[in-house]
Amino acid sequence: MTATPADLLITNGLVLTMDSQQRTIPAGAVAIRADRIVAVGKADEIAAGQAGRVIDARGGIIMPGLVNTHTHAAMTLFRGLADDLPLMTWLNDHIFPAEAAMDSRKVYCGALLACAEMIMSGTTTFCDMYLFEDAVARAAQKAGMRAVVGEVLFDFTSPNYGSPAQGFAYTQSLIEAYRGDPLVTIAVEPHSPYLCAPEVLTQAFALARQHGIPMVIHLAETAGEVATIRARYGRTPAEHLEALGVLAPNVLACHCVALTDHDIALLKRRDVKVSHNPESNMKLASGIAPVPQLLDAGVCVGLGTDGAASNNNLDLFLEMDTAAKLHKVHRLDPTVLDAGTVLRMATIDAARALGLSDRIGSLEPGKQADVIILDTCKPHLVPMYHPVSQLVYAARGSDVEASVINGRIVMEHGRILTFDVGQAMEDVNRIAVEMSSKLKARSSK
Ligand SMILES: [Zn+2]
Repeated sequence: MTATPADLLITNGLVLTMDSQQRTIPAGAVAIRADRIVAVGKADEIAAGQAGRVIDARGGIIMPGLVNTHTHAAMTLFRGLADDLPLMTWLNDHIFPAEAAMDSRKVYCGALLACAEMIMSGTTTFCDMYLFEDAVARAAQKAGMRAVVGEVLFDFTSPNYGSPAQGFAYTQSLIEAYRGDPLVTIAVEPHSPYLCAPEVLTQAFALARQHGIPMVIHLAETAGEVATIRARYGRTPAEHLEALGVLAPNVLACHCVALTDHDIALLKRRDVKVSHNPESNMKLASGIAPVPQLLDAGVCVGLGTDGAASNNNLDLFLEMDTAAKLHKVHRLDPTVLDAGTVLRMATIDAARALGLSDRIGSLEPGKQADVIILDTCKPHLVPMYHPVSQLVYAARGSDVEASVINGRIVMEHGRILTFDVGQAMEDVNRIAVEMSSKLKARSSK
């Protein structure tokens, strides 16, 4: 029974807590006061506290909002621009020229559209790496989403900040600007071992350490990257980071497709977190990350979509389905990555990967109120033998009908309340027309 009255009560649903006991509560409710969960339990016991506002889940599923551990939100601008191409052709002939024309306004519009897509498919937190990240942070705030954002750092000049040294100054200014922000956490984000000199990596790590924030990096995305790093430094990308002393529990390594057994042992020893991005790895033909081995070794793995240019959607429900099935067919073993494991990779383990598991990732009193509701009264979700399997193998992002982030209702009845989604789509369409005419002019030169 709640001692204090709640501001918001989400009731009449099957509550999947994703807590350490994996408790599920039929006919359950979640009570929220300001930005926090104050009670989780049976609806008839909690309702006695009576709330200011009530959301009726109508027998659906009430669960923690999903956590996307790796994306480049503004790349919604390039969704479908260039598909079915080899990685280097895709990057050098299509993505890099388009990115050279990026500015703060375009990044804001692309990121806001991404927020719409993510909220509407059940994501409440995302971890972003891109250019003009202040614009991404502002888009997340506008949308009411929780975000870990960091400006991409590399050895060459950026259209945002200029020289690599200025990249660190820009990151520092983001850290100051968003200190104590209820939604936005800043991370330090060197792109990868192949685009960052050792000094950039050690400086990035020192900055993240100094402020107690995450360091996010792409690692061992392809066999080609491993060959490059071996040729340059005589070791694998993970061994390279270990030699530089930059593997630690606050490091999130994205992709981790091409790992050796020794690499996996290193990641475990340093408690490095891994972001698994199966759809992007499949689409770019990067390979299959050794996720079952990472999990067996005890490495924390969170799920991520990567950017919309290499996926091409930001729907974590589809990503869960893909992750579970990809490893089964790869191993020829239907028991690997069971539905419960995959659901944890999109909730509590993803939160842990971002250093946020004390605040989000499960429904427990004291945590921030990031909660989604799925409408299960749909033909593809009937009957409901095993809710967790249903979420991973049958549900889609579009089954999410309401979303509460940090105690605020950001979507109800499938409609986003925090900003005008129609306008966000229109803005991106206009930018796309602008960009494609510029790209055409460039290619006809
Ligand atoms: Zn990426």
